[in-house]
Amino acid sequence: MNTAEYTKDLSIVVALYNEAESLPELVAWIEKVMTREGYDYEIIMVDDGSRDGSWEKVNELAKSNGRIKGISFRRNYGKSAALYCGFEAACGRIVVTMDADLQDSPEEIPEMVRMIDEEGFDLVSGWKQHRQDNKLTKNLPSKLYNATARMITGIRLHDMNCGLKAYRNEVVKNIEVYGEMHRYIPYLAKNAGFDRIGEKPVHHQKRKYGKSKFGISRFANGFLDLLSLWFLSTFGKKPMHFFGLSGTLMFLTGGVIAVWLIVAKLISQSQGLRFRPVTEQPLFYLALVVLIIGVQLFLAGFIGELISRNSSERNQYNIKDRIE
Ligand code: UDP
Ligand code: MG
Repeated sequence: MNTAEYTKDLSIVVALYNEAESLPELVAWIEKVMTREGYDYEIIMVDDGSRDGSWEKVNELAKSNGRIKGISFRRNYGKSAALYCGFEAACGRIVVTMDADLQDSPEEIPEMVRMIDEEGFDLVSGWKQHRQDNKLTKNLPSKLYNATARMITGIRLHDMNCGLKAYRNEVVKNIEVYGEMHRYIPYLAKNAGFDRIGEKPVHHQKRKYGKSKFGISRFANGFLDLLSLWFLSTFGKKPMHFFGLSGTLMFLTGGVIAVWLIVAKLISQSQGLRFRPVTEQPLFYLALVVLIIGVQLFLAGFIGELISRNSSERNQYNIKDRIE
């Protein structure tokens, strides 16, 4: 899309799952801030298969507010899926995501928009500096999780998984959120070439209605997803560089041990010394295992190359500009 094609200033994407009670207050709060700031905006409500009448609420709200658009999933697909569809539908110059549970405040939006417009950020992420959640199950693991994420992604954010974020439209159209990758959107953006990533401390409220949809399992799964993303972004297009190197190292280690065993045996024999049979030595088994793993890693590399060569995305690049 060219700048001229954006039909709105702002698209506010809200993923919601069983949040019926919060919706009227949420919409009223967004309206209040947007009217005060004079934005031309749209609210895209993505109902992720709610069972508590959230979709009926969205319909009701849309009747009295023409700026509300809605998408309703037939079943619960997860927050990433909801954001993906919201992003697809967004036609605002700037796209903001926020949670539906009234924990994120729309009052933060104007400043985030300003940071994108005036300071040139591609993406501004909220930072729940004073988190209003359970200390033990959320705050502490979250600190650990964010420190790991910072180390692996190289993005200096305190709160990678904050639901309140603002993006340039191009960013959301050029990334594909899937699985549970909504936790790493800044990393997805960085891998797509949008690396001007800013952060803004935001107010965080206690959950007023309903309950949190993610348990403690989020941290284990989140860590595995982070590893997958790291692997994909580093070796996704050249798997042999990962498997080939580790396979070769293993194979060489095994080979050196095997040769050493043979040489040691030959030397002892030539000197007429007694020598323990090779099969009675632990090193022999170590050599065997390492050799086999080495070959398997190598084969995994070849299979990885075959798969990535067949990928439809193998020659997809994010082109910024062209002169013709
Ligand atoms: N959400 C969703 N689909 C899901 C789970 C959650 O759309 O499968 C939405 C949820 O309605 C909320 C946002 O994602 O608007 C964040 O969820 P929650 O508040 O439970 O997360 P927490 O604040 O505990 O991190
Ligand atoms: Mg919440």
